[in-house]
Amino acid sequence: MSHILDVDNLQVSFTTYGGEVQAVRGVSFHVNAGETLAIVGESGSGKSVTAQAIMGMVSTKNGQVKDGEIIFKGKELTTLPKKKIQALRGSEIGMIFQDPMTSLNPTMKIGKQIEEGLFKHQKISKNEAKKKTIDLLKLVGIPAPERRYRQYPHECSGGMRQRIVIAIALACDPSLIIADEPTTALDVTIQAQILDVLTAIQQERNMSIVLITHDLGVVAEVADRVAVMYAGVVVESGSVDEIFENPQHPYTIKLLQSVPSSELAESQRLVPIEGTPPDLFSPPQGCPFAERCPFAMEVCVEYMPEEQLFSENHYAKCWLHDPRAAGVKEQFAGKEEVLW
Ligand code: SF4
Repeated sequence: MSHILDVDNLQVSFTTYGGEVQAVRGVSFHVNAGETLAIVGESGSGKSVTAQAIMGMVSTKNGQVKDGEIIFKGKELTTLPKKKIQALRGSEIGMIFQDPMTSLNPTMKIGKQIEEGLFKHQKISKNEAKKKTIDLLKLVGIPAPERRYRQYPHECSGGMRQRIVIAIALACDPSLIIADEPTTALDVTIQAQILDVLTAIQQERNMSIVLITHDLGVVAEVADRVAVMYAGVVVESGSVDEIFENPQHPYTIKLLQSVPSSELAESQRLVPIEGTPPDLFSPPQGCPFAERCPFAMEVCVEYMPEEQLFSENHYAKCWLHDPRAAGVKEQFAGKEEVLW
C-alpha cells in the first residue's frame, strides 16, 4: 500500500519562560492512502503538536521542528518555504479542529467562510463557488443548505457547526484530513452522526485521515491503525484489532483498562493510571512510562527501549519484550494479571 504521509523521527520543542519543552521526541509513523490512523494518548502526550507540525503550524506558537522529516506525497514539509506550506494547507491537507466556535469566524456568513478556501486555492467563479459550497453543505448532511449558506455560525447548533468545519476542510478535495478531537465537544448522538459523515466521505473520496483523540470508543469505531503516544513518544503502534485485542505496552494496557466498556461486569471497576506523566522540560532518558509502570526495572530508567515487533505493523517500545532482557517477565510472576 502506498504511503501518503511519512513522519520520521520528528522532534518538536517550544521555547517558554520556564525553558524548552520537548513536546515531541522522535515520533515516526506513516499513513496509507485511504486509511485512518488514530493517534491516541492523554493530554500533553504530544499528539496535537504532531498534527500541528504536519500542518506547519508550530512556529506560530514559539515552537520549532528540531529534527526529523515529514514527507507528504514525496514533499519534505519541514523544509518547505512558508508560502508553499500555506498553499498545501487547506488544499491538499485539510484540518478539522475540536471546537467549531473557535475555528469559525462569528462575524462571517457560513457560505463565505467555505468559499474563502475555494477562492484562495482554486481559479473559480463566484457562481461556481456558490454551487460547490451548497453541494458541500449537502454532502455533510446540512438540511436547507441554501438558507444555511446565508446564515452566521451562531444560528446553527453545535453539531451543525462541526459539519460546517468539515465542509471547509473538504472544500478543495484534500487527500489528507487531520482531525484534532473532532467530536470531543459534541454529545454522543451527534458524535456518531459526525463520524458517519466523515467516514462515508472518506470512502467516497479515498481520503486519508489522521485522527487525534483521547477517546478509545471513537478509535474503535473509525480507525484502521493506532499509534499510542505517551510523553512525546509513540510507545505502541498497530492495527486497531492488534491494539484492542493484543496490547503489549503496559501504558496501552492501562489505558484500555481505564475506559468503560459494555463488557465490564458490574463487579469490575475501572482502573485509573496512578501518577502523572513526566515533566517534558527535562524528560526522562529512559522509558517515559517508568515512573508509573508496575514493571519498571533499572534498565527502564536508564535506557529508552527500542521497538519490538509483534507483526508487520505492530510494535511496542518496552524492555519486557526485548530479547536482550529475556526472562524478565518471569520476575513478575503473580503480577501479570495486573496487565496480561
Ligand atoms: Fe514499564 Fe519498563 Fe516497559 Fe517502560 S520499558 S513500560 S517501565 S516495563
